[in-house]
Amino acid sequence: MVAVASPRGRGGVGCVRISGERAAEIALSVFELPPGGRAPRAGQRPRFGRFLARDGKPLDHGYLVIFAAEASFTGEASAELWPHGSPAVLSELVEGAVANGAVPAGPGEFTYRALRNGRLDLARSEAVRDLVAARTLYQARVAFAQAEGVVSRRLKPLVEALAEWIARTEAAVEFVDEAETHLPQGRLRVAIGEARASCDELLAGFRTGRVVRDGATLAVVGLPNAGKSSLFNTLLARDRAIVTEHAGTTRDTLEDDLDLDGIPVRLIDTAGLRETEHPVESEGVRRARLAREEADLVLLVLDGSRAPADEEREALARVALAPEAGRTVVVVNKCDLPQEADLPGDLLRVSALTGQGTDALRAALRDRLLGADTLEDPVITDVRHARALAQAGEALDRARVAIGDGLSEELVLEDLKQAMRHLGEITGEFTNEDLYDRIFSTFCIGK
Ligand code: GDP
Repeated sequence: MVAVASPRGRGGVGCVRISGERAAEIALSVFELPPGGRAPRAGQRPRFGRFLARDGKPLDHGYLVIFAAEASFTGEASAELWPHGSPAVLSELVEGAVANGAVPAGPGEFTYRALRNGRLDLARSEAVRDLVAARTLYQARVAFAQAEGVVSRRLKPLVEALAEWIARTEAAVEFVDEAETHLPQGRLRVAIGEARASCDELLAGFRTGRVVRDGATLAVVGLPNAGKSSLFNTLLARDRAIVTEHAGTTRDTLEDDLDLDGIPVRLIDTAGLRETEHPVESEGVRRARLAREEADLVLLVLDGSRAPADEEREALARVALAPEAGRTVVVVNKCDLPQEADLPGDLLRVSALTGQGTDALRAALRDRLLGADTLEDPVITDVRHARALAQAGEALDRARVAIGDGLSEELVLEDLKQAMRHLGEITGEFTNEDLYDRIFSTFCIGK
């Protein structure tokens, strides 16, 4: 199979990937060595030469590398062509490879073959996709740890313990009358408790993991002229929103991406929330309310230089209540001006104008999104993995209850096996073709 592995568009260097038994032969059919050059073999250094169009005429020059099956990404004989990053050249080389017997690869097919050939497990394959999709350095770092197998490594002791207890329970079920296969139920209960605790620990990290992988939305809300647009610009470190002294300047919601110390955040500036007769502004207010409801986190901006309005007092009172609590961060803006003292002293104070306090605000936003007590990078970031872990945990709970209720060991065994199956779904040991199709269709072509 063949595909362009470099991104769409132009670049200094592009890459066409070929994988499969005939990879080298097909690559050599579109490549011409310099006079006297010896055909490269697997594992040798890249060879410089010319790339040929389907009409046999040279089209570009660059490098050809041939990989042996045991040293390639897919676990099959492979080749890579590195011409210039010209879309015309790259697509002609793919066509040339197809004319010589290759088939165009579908999304994620290289990674799928790597999985099928035992080079990667499913969790590591998905991490490759997430690494390619990473927008911030931190996302890339977390995905890379997964690509190197951190998920499977963390699951391993859990899976091994479970496998041992499944075997012992099976023996107890099969050889009921023999004393040496008698099931020590007290110890089994402890083991199940420990397995459940490991699931919970990994799941607790998912709260953070999900935000790291998928990012979060943050809506900036407040009354007109509180300084929302100014703060939006200050957080983005550029003049994105229009700022004027006229209340009601921001009429529509305005969005941009912010890298909040590695967390990708979609920042949304909203129209000031106030009653208005103006049709455009009132539509803006409606959109602002919607953004406030839908955002993962809301930044409520107050103007510290004037006495809080009734709406602001009400909003402040609401922040203390569930479900607003935890989802709203309050900030008092314009701390460079003389302050109206009538606001709680423990609120964050910033100046969008001078930048004062904005580092503390970033830290507060990040803590709120990740949870302030995160000590280690998240291991579980994929909702599919989290669901499987939660299901494994539920099966373990059922097993524990079954033992407690004195139910038959066969029933306990069934629950343990089910827990194991769910854990296996994460690494792909128990996965059906449908799921593979769904997962790999989210990859890019050439990956
Ligand atoms: P919005 O309506 O809430 O988006 O507020 P803007 O960002 O448009 O700001 C309203 C006015 O307040 C503008 O004249 C800003 O220059 C001014 N302003 C915003 N932030 C600050 C600040 O931190 N200090 C001072 N002194 N003025 C500010």
